[in-house]
Amino acid sequence: MKLAEKVSELVERKRNLFTEASDKVWGFAEIRYEEFRSAELLAELLEQQGFEVEREAAGIATAFVASYGSGKPVIALLGEYDALAGLSQQAGLDGFEPVVPGGSGHGCGHNLLGTGALAAAVAVKDYMAETGASGTVRFYGCPAEESGAGKTFMARSGLFDDVDAAVTWHPGTSHGVMQVTSLATTTVRFRFLGKSTHAAAEPHLGRSALDAVELMSVGVNYMREHMIDQARIHYAVLNTGGSAPNVVQSEAEVLYSIRAPKSPQVRELFERVKDVARGAALMSGTRMEFVVTGATSDLIPNPALEKVMHRHMDEISPPVPIAEEIDYAKRIFASIPEPDKQSAAGRLSRERAEALRENPLLPVLSPLIEGSVPMSASTDVGDISWLVPTVQCSTATWAFATPGHSWQVVSQGCSSHAHKAMLYAGKAMAATAIEALLDPKLREAARRDLELQLAGEPYVCPIPDDVYPPQPENPAARQKAEAVTAH
Ligand SMILES: [Zn+2]
Repeated sequence: MKLAEKVSELVERKRNLFTEASDKVWGFAEIRYEEFRSAELLAELLEQQGFEVEREAAGIATAFVASYGSGKPVIALLGEYDALAGLSQQAGLDGFEPVVPGGSGHGCGHNLLGTGALAAAVAVKDYMAETGASGTVRFYGCPAEESGAGKTFMARSGLFDDVDAAVTWHPGTSHGVMQVTSLATTTVRFRFLGKSTHAAAEPHLGRSALDAVELMSVGVNYMREHMIDQARIHYAVLNTGGSAPNVVQSEAEVLYSIRAPKSPQVRELFERVKDVARGAALMSGTRMEFVVTGATSDLIPNPALEKVMHRHMDEISPPVPIAEEIDYAKRIFASIPEPDKQSAAGRLSRERAEALRENPLLPVLSPLIEGSVPMSASTDVGDISWLVPTVQCSTATWAFATPGHSWQVVSQGCSSHAHKAMLYAGKAMAATAIEALLDPKLREAARRDLELQLAGEPYVCPIPDDVYPPQPENPAARQKAEAVTAH
């Protein structure tokens, strides 16, 4: 029996376990670093499946590592489960209708992502148990992918140091291996401290922190002409220093995001932005402090692993939607604004775009390409990919042209087709992971590919050593504590 076939059988055997877990995580819809119930559900499920679980990995309450087997090689499956604020939406609809107005929702499909990777880990473990294959399979429960850089903190703590290959995926609108690079990014909070005075009576004694924020803006605007085209610098003023114009603002804060295709480029731009902030402080007579709040490295693709994953995706073949799934996908497609549809179609051939308008869940596998496509987004998978040969696939869990971080993503998150596409990804990941586990030549080729692309550049964690992830309180722990005190 072919590996793809064997793995498909293993995943299908436990299909309900996986789809139910994904739907539950969808319902929890917990945002970054607050994924207490989602992480616990997946950790318990893995324990029941024979994994040993280390909770609070890297000192993060909602991170965990589940292992099966022992010794080398070590193959990792990466799973996420965080939702997005403000994206509450009912399942199965074709119009915007929140479950809780202003509540959170799985607008990036991480309920599917975490559970699909878990399905792969369980299938690898079942395969190892049946065949006696040696080595270790690990599921990494990674919190806070959305603006939280969970994996970057996990990478910094050394959790990936002995891993030979990492496999993951992301839900999407087409079936294929993700041959992409992403932007490295650093997010920094700049705070200026001045002196408050009566703006009319004693302006000469005041030093305005808001002036410093404005001057920093001017400085960065001048900088933009003298940086590489692909770099981006965004900002948001967090604190203007108050709403009274007759009081000199003694304190003001601005958040900057610096992005570029490569981590060393972000490091260089960050130094220049810091100089601009220092200049703004000097000009305004204020004091400047800054703190890095998050950062991720760029994604390093791995052609050796991509080839293997594509072969398995081809052998397993994409799930074929039934009539009512196509009908729902068409209704979702109709709800998508025209510019979004045109933007999605613009990346495809005319024939493919037309076929997708007819069937927005077209069961076609995208061909493997030479090289990779730059993606104008950032992901914390990037940090893992600097340390470990990493490969990802995507499957069409959602209708063609569904925009990311939208209510349409949330609405489709529990559909029968999303389940099928999640399990397709699970099977492809499991087969790729098993091949990496069994074949030392593949592991060597993957390591060589990584070294070739890094060209001697060492991994520098973009988050400083003294910055830690936020630690929100676990509501279940609090309830327990209250119950104990009540007795
Ligand atoms: Zn995502």
